[in-house]
Parts: sequence; C-alpha cells; structure tokens
Amino acid sequence: FLAHQQHCESNARAYPRHLPIAIAEASGSFIKDVDGNVFIDFLSGAGVLSLGHNHPEVVDAAVAQFSVLSHGLDFPTPAKREFTDAQLSMLPVSTRNRMKVHFCGPTGANAVDAALKLCKTATGRGDVVAFQGGFHGSTHAAMALTGLVTQKQPIANGMPGVHFFPYSSCSDCPVGLSPDSCQTNCVGLLEKSLRDPNGGVPRPAAVVMEMIQGEGGVIPARHDFVHRVRELTAQLDIPLVVDEVQTGCGRTGTWFAYEQYDIEPDVVVASKALSGMGLPVALIFYDRRLDTWTPGAHTGTFRGNQAAFAAGTATIRVVQRDDVLGNVRRRGEQLANRLSVLHDHPGVREVRGRGLMWGVELAAGESARAIQAMALGNGLIVELGGRGDTVVRLMPPLNVTADVVDQACAILIDAIEHCAS
Ligand code: PMP
Repeated sequence: FLAHQQHCESNARAYPRHLPIAIAEASGSFIKDVDGNVFIDFLSGAGVLSLGHNHPEVVDAAVAQFSVLSHGLDFPTPAKREFTDAQLSMLPVSTRNRMKVHFCGPTGANAVDAALKLCKTATGRGDVVAFQGGFHGSTHAAMALTGLVTQKQPIANGMPGVHFFPYSSCSDCPVGLSPDSCQTNCVGLLEKSLRDPNGGVPRPAAVVMEMIQGEGGVIPARHDFVHRVRELTAQLDIPLVVDEVQTGCGRTGTWFAYEQYDIEPDVVVASKALSGMGLPVALIFYDRRLDTWTPGAHTGTFRGNQAAFAAGTATIRVVQRDDVLGNVRRRGEQLANRLSVLHDHPGVREVRGRGLMWGVELAAGESARAIQAMALGNGLIVELGGRGDTVVRLMPPLNVTADVVDQACAILIDAIEHCAS
C-alpha cells in the first residue's frame, strides 16, 4: 500500500514519512489503518477535526446539504448565511460589531494571502512585519511570511518587503534575556525599528502574528508581548492580523485565542476547523474600516462549499450544546497535570500549551523522532514541530474524553522515558 503511494506521489508529502500508516477508516478520536491497527489520534487532521472523525450530526448536516446544493460559488445561500451568523455569534460582541467576513478559498494559506492583500489595499503600503518561528502556509506569499526557516529555505527571501522580528519565545529568548527582567525587549526591537525616522522598517501594511506559534513548536505568546504589539500597531495605524488558522475554533478553550489576551485585532484569519470535519473553508474577519475592496478584487472558485458551511453550522451547534469549550479547558488541565511529571525529566526542556494544543519540547531532535515512532508503535499518533522538530505536539479532538487523554498520556510518557535521556 505504502510502496504504491511512494511510487506514484511526489516526495514532498510530509506526514506519512514519519507516520508510516495507510488510513482505512476513523471514528471519534480513533483511526484504523489498512492492517486493522487502531490508533488514538492526537493530530486531528492537523487540528481540523474539532469533534473527532465522522461526528454523526456533522456528517448528517453535510450529507443533507449535498443533495440540496453543493457548490454555491459566491452567491448568497441559506447555508452560507447560517454559517456566517453562527460564526459571528461565536465572536466577542466587541469584535462582532466591527467585523465583516470575506470567504477565501479553500485553505488557511489562501486566507493569509487575502489578509495581506486587503491590508495592502487599505493602507496603500507594501511592507509586512511577521515573526521569527511563525508559520502561515505554503502558498508563495504565506510562506514568505513564515519565519520557520526550515520550511522555506529554497524560496528564502521570496517576497520583498517582509521583515521578521523576534517572537516571545522565552524558553529560548531571541534577545538573550530572562523573561522577568527583559521588559519585552523583543517588542522593543520592533518598536525601535518602526519608529526610526532614518532607515528602520518602512511603516508596514500589516503586522501578522499567531497567538500561539503552532508549527513553530506550540509557543504561547506572553500577554505583555501581545499587548505591546497591539499598542504599538494601534498607535502607528498598522492593521494587526491575527492568524488563528490553528488556534481558532475552540482549540485553546475560547473560540479564538486572542480573546484570552484582551485585545481587539483588525483582521482574524481562520480555516482548518471551521467546518469541523475537514471540508475546506477559509475566511477572514476584518474591521469595516479596512473594507476597501471593490467587487472582484479578491475572487476564487472554491469559496462556496455549501456542505462545509452546513457542517460548520452543525459543529457550532454541538459545541454550544455540549459545552465543548468547557471540555477543552478541563481536558487541557488534565493533560497539563498528567504531563507535569515531565517537568524534571532531564531529556525534556519544557512542557507548554493552552486548551488542547500542547507541546513537549525535548532537548534533542532525535529523541523527539524516536518518541513519535515509539508512540505510533504503541497506538498513539502525534506530530512534531518547532525550530528543529524537537517538540512533540498534542492536538486531540476538542471532545476527547478523559479516558482517552489518560491513555494517550500514558503512551507518551512511556515513550519519553524510553527515548529521552
Ligand atoms: N497558518 C497557521 C497558523 C497554520 O498552522 C497553518 C497550517 N498548519 C496555516 C496558516 C496554513 O493553512 P493551510 O495548510 O490550510 O493552508
């Protein structure tokens, strides 16, 4: 099976290289491979499957929609309207009242590109600020904003006018200071450059950031860092684009992670878990004052996936009815408690995360790979991330049960004890 795929498919495939299984079917938090082995899925289709695989209410909504209308292009439709209303209802009132929505299809990277284009149009400026270690997608522009250099080495400096600044990655401080006494010197560098009248970064069209760097190794930004970035961008009239492609739709315990920082962004980018079941949909919410696009300024064929809309509306219904965000917070605390035994482990640098987005950073990249392989052998699927693939990332479905979290933690801790010294 695998050999056949390897023969036909391009070498660029990433997941099966390190998780060498062929998937036959899946249900809830479990995946079954073609040989009948069952795995706990702590990858969730890269953070896409909020309610696990094949949630019956979400599947029913999608299937029912398929026989009514599958592709609506850009036209208004009942499914789109219900989805838009459901999404807006999840935003804090302060954001909802200011925001418009633009569908950008079909992936997260497309929505990042759209956000950039919108901010460039609205401000008339061309430069963009992004952060070291960030990830924004694989289209050319989204990758140009990606500060996780390993991913983009071959197209380094792919887009002129992109400027990278340090992120608040305190366990490995980019400016060599200690978090207690640094006074967010990392933002200080950005501020100095933006305010420098002779030769700093020209005033950019946007500052683009993740609240938690996901691919970058599950690094939650510090509160003071985010506040200072927001303050600075507001003072200089620079739109702040928050990339919530991975952190959005409940993953961190609130609908969007920025809500936990008490800030108001100008643009929110969302995709992955919007439909809750992997049907592609991507969008930006943006402040009305940026609404400078004329009809046709940003089009695309696949922006009207009606089944994705119906599935997304059904997902929100379940999230609200079953207090799924409460589950994210409770299971997140459980994960944190279970993983706290690793704090003093000599092979572990740090355990960090929010909600159901956690990372265990190992001292050595080789041990992270070995842990991933051993966990897979024992029935747990986890992905790696971080600057040198040194972080084991945990992203279970948002409705994962306490039993499954316990089982997964036992497998992971056992693998770490065997493989990390
Ligand atoms: N932004 C972030 C923060 C992401 O994590 C990702 C995907 N991992 C993307 C953008 C790109 O999304 P997509 O793969 O759907 O293009």
